[in-house]
Amino acid sequence: MRVASRHPFPHPSIRRLPLYLRFLKQLRDAGSQKISCTRIARELDLDSTQVRKDLALTGIVGRPRIGYVLTDLVQAIEKFLGWDQRALAFLAGVGNLGRAIIGYEDFRRCGLDIVAAFDIDAGKIGGEVFGRRVYHPAEMPALTPKLGVSVGVITVPAVAAQEVADVMVKSGISGIWNFSPIRLELPPRVRVENALLTSSLAVLSVDLKRESPEAAPPFQRPPARRSR
Ligand code: ATP
Repeated sequence: MRVASRHPFPHPSIRRLPLYLRFLKQLRDAGSQKISCTRIARELDLDSTQVRKDLALTGIVGRPRIGYVLTDLVQAIEKFLGWDQRALAFLAGVGNLGRAIIGYEDFRRCGLDIVAAFDIDAGKIGGEVFGRRVYHPAEMPALTPKLGVSVGVITVPAVAAQEVADVMVKSGISGIWNFSPIRLELPPRVRVENALLTSSLAVLSVDLKRESPEAAPPFQRPPARRSR
């Protein structure tokens, strides 16, 4: 994975590309060789004009009546996403979320290789999480150029996120994947993607509430404590 410079590509299209990729790889692995835009759209319940536009971002154009050669299309999407290359990453905040992200091997298949972690908890520093060493953040500026790390993943509590981002910027990191629910202040050279987990949950919560306002609440309240 490479960290892209400022790009004009529409984010909703980029977000759909991994969806296509997964589906196309499945077909390829099952022995298919060609695929049409219409079939991709039908199988993934999308609009075929949209699918064509999304795939055109990768520079690949389907042939009328033949469609796309599957292996070419898979390659083109991976190349466009930068998933055919490896980006080394540091993760700061080895709590529950941080540990889950380090342990999730699929990110490696997307070109993101978390090579070490950082935490201020003395009980965690010097230890290992899924084979990755945990360091104090003060060591990040020296380790970043030494290991050739370009991405920082932030999974510290919100109050510590800006401070950690500042260390990452000072260390020369060029892309930040921010899992904290705050907007970071960063210099223009540093790209940021906010992984807004609670915002995503909020959309589901409101949708469920709207669909069945009278029914049982989708997220049950914990039972009231019995008073003694
Ligand atoms: P745990 O119970 O293991 O601490 P948690 O998920 O409840 O897990 P959080 O409070 O979300 O923990 O904090 C996540 C991690 O971020 C913790 O390991 C914490 O020590 C670490 N952390 C907090 N501030 C910083 C900081 N400034 N730099 C690096 N790591 C930090």
